[in-house]
Amino acid sequence: MKKIQMVDLITQYQKIKPAVDSAITGVLETAQFINGPEVKAFQSELEEYLGVNHVIPCANGTDALQIALMALGLKPGDEVITPSFTFIATTEVIALLGLKPIFVDVDKDTFCINAAEIEAAITPNTKAIVPVHLYGQSANMEEIMKIAEKHNLFVIEDNAQAIGGDYHLPSGDVKTGGIGHVGCTSFFPSKNLGCYGDGGAIFTNDDALAEEMRMVVNHGQSKRYYHDRVGVNSRLDSIQAAVLRIKLRELDNYINARRKVADHYDRFFAQFSGIKTPVRGPESRHVFHQYTLTLEGIDRDALNAYLAEKDIPSMIYYPVPAHRQEMFASFGSAETELPVTDWLTQRVLSLPIHTEMEDDQLEYICSNIAEFINVHA
Ligand SMILES: *Cc1c(COP(=O)(O)O)cnc(C)c1O
Repeated sequence: MKKIQMVDLITQYQKIKPAVDSAITGVLETAQFINGPEVKAFQSELEEYLGVNHVIPCANGTDALQIALMALGLKPGDEVITPSFTFIATTEVIALLGLKPIFVDVDKDTFCINAAEIEAAITPNTKAIVPVHLYGQSANMEEIMKIAEKHNLFVIEDNAQAIGGDYHLPSGDVKTGGIGHVGCTSFFPSKNLGCYGDGGAIFTNDDALAEEMRMVVNHGQSKRYYHDRVGVNSRLDSIQAAVLRIKLRELDNYINARRKVADHYDRFFAQFSGIKTPVRGPESRHVFHQYTLTLEGIDRDALNAYLAEKDIPSMIYYPVPAHRQEMFASFGSAETELPVTDWLTQRVLSLPIHTEMEDDQLEYICSNIAEFINVHA
C-alpha cells in the first residue's frame, strides 16, 4: 500500500506531467513571467467556468480577501461579521485593515456561519458579512443575501475551500463564490484547485467593484504611473496560471474523486453511533476539500494520536478558533459566546481525502478507526 497522505500532489502531478511540463516550458521560452498571455487566458477560462463577469487573479487567497475589503471603501472601526470557526486568514485581514471582526457562531451540521444568528450581531457600524464555505460546503447563501439586502451590507464569500461547488438557487445552479458581491479563492497547492506555489483570485459580477479591485491589485493605478488610491502589489505568476489552466480542466474530475472518497467514508461510518459524518446540506453540492468527522463520546485526541501511530495522518482544523487567538485579544473577542464553535473545536477530526486515494488506503484507514473504537468503547 502506498503511504497515506492528507493530500497526494505527487501522484496527481504524474498524471498530468506532460501537459504541465510543456506549459511551464512554454512560459520559460517566452519569458513573459508577469501578466503574460497565460494569466489572461486563465482569467477568462475561470470566468467561463464560474459563470461570473470578472475574475481578478492575485497572489494568494489572503490577498484576495484583503483586496476585496479594500475595494469596499470602508472606514476604520467599521464592523465585519464573520465566523470564528475558520482559517485565520479570513478574520486576520479584517483586523489588518483597521476594521472590527464581529464573530458569529456556526451551524453544528454545516460548520458554516449560522445565518439565523447574523441579525443579532448587526449594529449601525456593520458594513459587510464574510461567510466561509468551510471544508467545501457552502454557507446558507440565500439567507445571508436576504439579510444583507435588508441591512444594505456587502457580502464577500470566502470560497478558498469550495471552488467548483454548485449552489442550488430557485433560478438554477450557480457556482459558490458567485452569489455575494465578491468571491475570493486561494490556489494554495493543497486546495481543490491548487497551483505549484501561491496564487489566488477574486470574482464579481459588479463592474464598478471589478474596476476598483483591478486598481487595488496594481498599486491603485488607473493608467500607467497614475495612482488614484492606495493599493497593493498582488499578482498571479504566469507559470502558476499555466499550471492552473491545466488543472482547471480537471477540476470537475477532481471534485468527483473527492466525493467518491467521501461516499466510501459515509457508508463505513454509518455503523458507529459516536461518529457524525459530514452533513451534506440540500442547498449546495459539497466539494469535500476536507472530510471532517464530529466525534461524540469518542476521544478525538486519542484517536488522532492512535492514527498517527498507524501512519495515518489526520488533522484538527482548527485547534484554536479565531475569537480565542491572541491576535484578537485587543478586541475582547474571547468574551464573545460561541458555544457551537467551542464545542466543535474539541470534536472535529479531518481524515485524508484527495484525488488519488486508493481502495486499500481507504480500507486501512476505516479498519483502524473501527479497531480504535472497539478497543476504547
Ligand atoms: C487557504 C485559505 C485562505 C487563504 O489562502 P492563502 O492562499 O493561503 O492565502 C483563506 N481562507 C480559507 C478558508 C482558506 O482555507
